[in-house]
Amino acid sequence: MDKSWITKAKWSRDYVIGVNNFIEFVSRSQNLSRKILCPCKSCINRYFYSMKVVKDHLITKGFFPGYVI
Ligand SMILES: [Zn+2]
Repeated sequence: MDKSWITKAKWSRDYVIGVNNFIEFVSRSQNLSRKILCPCKSCINRYFYSMKVVKDHLITKGFFPGYVI
């Protein structure tokens, strides 16, 4: 999976598309109703949220530094 978009600006098209692909990628291996660990800057993989919330976090806050898919 291409991860170069993670370091792109949060408002860039590449980043938003990357987040969408990431959520889709995760949802393929997880039950959609299940909560997942949020890899955003505030949660740093410590808190579980629904896919929709995680997507919002990633769009507004970005991934925490050093996160690897
Ligand atoms: Zn978060």
